[in-house]
Amino acid sequence: MNTFFLEYRDPLFGIIIFFVIIFVITFFSYWWGRYKSKEDHRHLSKFLRQFRSLPSQEELQVMISGGELSEKSWIILAQSYTRNGDFEKAIEIYNELLKLGNSINHKETLFLLGRTYFKAGFLERAKQVFLEILKNNPRTPQALHYLLLVYEYMRDYKSALEVLEPLDEMKKDIESDAAYLKSLALLNDLKMSDDIKAQKLLEIYRESYQLTHLVFEYLFRVDPKLAWSNFDSSKGELITDILWHLDTESLDLDIITNNGFLRELYSARGDVSLANQSFMFELDILINLKQKSNVTLNFEYVCDSCKQTFPFAFNRCSSCHTIDSSRIELGLTKDYYRDCSEEYNSFQ
Ligand SMILES: [Zn+2]
Repeated sequence: MNTFFLEYRDPLFGIIIFFVIIFVITFFSYWWGRYKSKEDHRHLSKFLRQFRSLPSQEELQVMISGGELSEKSWIILAQSYTRNGDFEKAIEIYNELLKLGNSINHKETLFLLGRTYFKAGFLERAKQVFLEILKNNPRTPQALHYLLLVYEYMRDYKSALEVLEPLDEMKKDIESDAAYLKSLALLNDLKMSDDIKAQKLLEIYRESYQLTHLVFEYLFRVDPKLAWSNFDSSKGELITDILWHLDTESLDLDIITNNGFLRELYSARGDVSLANQSFMFELDILINLKQKSNVTLNFEYVCDSCKQTFPFAFNRCSSCHTIDSSRIELGLTKDYYRDCSEEYNSFQ
């Protein structure tokens, strides 16, 4: 019986106890290591989650009124929200800042709030904010400028033109804005006939020779003969896209024959054969292809003021709000229209 039990004085008993203690310590330290690593991971995730989600309105209220950051820091934060397109959060910050009775940048914050409302498309709210600024500070050109834009976007051209008066008194350049707003007011007048609109547009055009694209887009659409009779050969490149898309029956061959740019443009399109080459790369390629390939022109519009590129024509840049800053850039693309019409003809 004694052979099955070890006495505590037996050296083998001591060795077994030693290994058991080592096993327990190893197991415990392994378990503790796993537990700590899990805890650290959970803590870090929780910490990082705070920065991934935006603070709620209540949290913002507490933080702004608690003065944890300076007003300037909150404005910088709101502007970065605006840049990322999170207008709602920027608006919440500006509104909370304006609630502070002792705000040192009240007027500036109000202006930034109005600008953010405008960018976010809340035109009525933007209008109220700019009117509020102008009530106390009527000679604030930036607020007047944005109020003009708000009225323009709301298609209230009469009010927009009224805003030009104080800007004029402050010796600001209003010539382009005046011509543009008058032209928009004409084009959106539902009671006026197309003929009278065309004549009045030409009158505005002759005052400053601006808005070439806007005026000739309308003239070539409603009265190509009138457009050609007022065509300024030096400005042909400004309306390349309009000229390129004209119907064949709307072309004036006499004017085309007597103008170098038009000869190249319509030779490239295949209407005439009056040019063998062009200094413009795209036109030169099309002239040399002689309609043997399904290639046509495409157009991009670059703002000369802010260098933004747009796929569509514009008269006022939606980014920097400059008028008449559009420059057309030509490109070559596959002629899908010709592809389709050839396929259609092959079925007949
Ligand atoms: Zn621009």
